[in-house]
Amino acid sequence: MKEIRICANENCENPVGSGRSDKKFCSDECRSEQNNIDKKKKKVAGAPDPRVEPYIEAVQQELLKNRHILATCCPGWDTTKTIKLSKLKDMNFNLRYFTSETEKSDSGTIYRFCFEYGYMFLPNDKICIVHRPELLNYPPLNGIV
Ligand SMILES: [Zn+2]
Repeated sequence: MKEIRICANENCENPVGSGRSDKKFCSDECRSEQNNIDKKKKKVAGAPDPRVEPYIEAVQQELLKNRHILATCCPGWDTTKTIKLSKLKDMNFNLRYFTSETEKSDSGTIYRFCFEYGYMFLPNDKICIVHRPELLNYPPLNGIV
């Protein structure tokens, strides 16, 4: 007895018809329609966006690179050092990425941090870098600068 297979498109009830034994759809249109349905279902189910992991890795690399540059320019423990902002840029420092921002309560000065290294902008192309090892404590404390 020959088994009658029905089209694998969930919106179609046509028999698959004759042809290869692994044929699943009655037509190419049904195959492509079902592929689109499957794709939509994956999105609804929260399938991870394939760009997320490479993006996170790239940002982590930028943050680590920034931290390394700050550590190189501000060596030592619990130190402060003022250098030219253009020097940081020459070293490929990426101002777009930082891990936290702190406002000094007395002066309102904003410090941006890449982990335990921070910086604030000064006039005349200068930047003040600080090393704040106490930031390595967990949980992070407010107003630590
Ligand atoms: Zn069909």
